[in-house]
Amino acid sequence: MTFAATTSDQHPDTPEARAYNRLRRRLSVVDFLLGLAFLLVLLFVTTSLGARWSEVLRDWAWLAARQHYSLAVFLYIAMLLLIGKLLGLPLDFYSFRLEHRYNLSNQKLRSWAWDQVKGWLVGLVLGSIVAELIYWTIRQAPQRWWLLAWVAFTALAIFFAQIAPVVLFPLFYKFQPLENEDLRERLVRLSERAGTRIRGVYEWKLSEKSKKANAALTGLGRTRRIILADTLLENYSPEEIESILAHELGHHVHRHIVKGILVQVVITFFGFWATAAILRYAVEQRHMFETLTDFANLPLLALVSTVMSLLLMPALNAYSRYNERQADRYCFQSVPDVAPFISSMEKLAQQNLAERRPSPAVEWLFHSHPATWRRILAAEMFRRRRGVTPAR
Ligand SMILES: [Zn+2]
Repeated sequence: MTFAATTSDQHPDTPEARAYNRLRRRLSVVDFLLGLAFLLVLLFVTTSLGARWSEVLRDWAWLAARQHYSLAVFLYIAMLLLIGKLLGLPLDFYSFRLEHRYNLSNQKLRSWAWDQVKGWLVGLVLGSIVAELIYWTIRQAPQRWWLLAWVAFTALAIFFAQIAPVVLFPLFYKFQPLENEDLRERLVRLSERAGTRIRGVYEWKLSEKSKKANAALTGLGRTRRIILADTLLENYSPEEIESILAHELGHHVHRHIVKGILVQVVITFFGFWATAAILRYAVEQRHMFETLTDFANLPLLALVSTVMSLLLMPALNAYSRYNERQADRYCFQSVPDVAPFISSMEKLAQQNLAERRPSPAVEWLFHSHPATWRRILAAEMFRRRRGVTPAR
C-alpha cells in the first residue's frame, strides 16, 4: 500500500543502485532459505536418542510448564522464536550494515538493537496468540478445527489492521498530526472532489532511522490515515506531496485495504484447510506425531504456510501492482498536472536507491509496485491522452 517501491525509471540504473538491490534480494532469499532449513531440521533431524528436535523442545517446554498445556505451547513457541532470531541475527546485522554502507540509514547501533528486541517481542505476542488459538481449536474440534481457526484468525487480522497505526507502528516510529496548513487544505480539496473523507494525515518521523522517503495509507475505520515520512515533507515541493497524497487517496477510494483483507481471508481459508489435511496425513498415515494436539507438529504447520506464501508471492505481487496502477491513475485524474507526480517518482527512486529499470523477471517476482519507469510512462501517456501541456 506504500507509495514508494523499493524499485524505480527510464534512465539506466547506476551500478550502485543495481548492486544495492541485488544484495538486498540475495539477503531476502538467504533469509528465507535459512527459515526453511530451520523448520526442516526441527521436523526431520533426530538427536542421538532418536527424538526429533521439535520433540526435544516440546519435552523441555512440558517440563518447564509442569504439564500445563497452554503454558507449554507458549514456552515452546518462545524457544522456537528465540532460536530462529539468533540464527537470523547475523543476516539482520548485515542488513543494518548494508543500509549504512549505501548511506541510506541514520540509525545508531543501540537503536537498531532495541528495535530487534521490540520486534522479537511483538513477534512473540502475535506468534503465541496464533499458536494458542490453533491448538485450542484443535482440542475443541479435532475434525473442523481449521474452520474455527480461520474465523478467529480473520477476526484477529481485522483487529490488528485496525490497531496497527495506533499501537504497533508507534513502537518503532514517532507520529504526529501533520501541521502544514497548505498541505492540509490541498488534502481537503482532494477529498472533497473524491466525495470521501480521510481521518487524518500524520507526519512519520522516519528520519530518526532512515534517509529513505515513503508514504502510506494505513489502518481501518477510525484508525484509517495517511502517513507521510518527514524525509518526504522536507525535500519535496507542495505539488509533489499533493500528488503523493492523491495516490494514497486513490488507495482509499478504491478500498484497497478492505480488498486486501478479503483476499487474505480467501487465501487463509484454503491455507487452513490444506494445513489441516496435511497435519491429519502426517499424524494418521505417516505417524510423525502421536496426536493432532501434539504441538511439536507446529513447524509442519509453519512449513505449509511458508511454502504457500512462496508460491503465492508472484500472484500477490501482481495484485499489489494492479492496485498501485489504479491508485496512480486516480492521482493523475485528481491533480491539475502530472509533472509533479513524475518528478516525485524520480526523486523517490534516487533517494531510496531504487532500481530504475529492474529486469522483468525481478519485477514480476519481487516487486509490489510497478517499476518507476512504467509509472512515469503511464503518467506521460495520461497527459498525452488528456491533451494538456504541463503548466510548468
Ligand atoms: Zn501505493
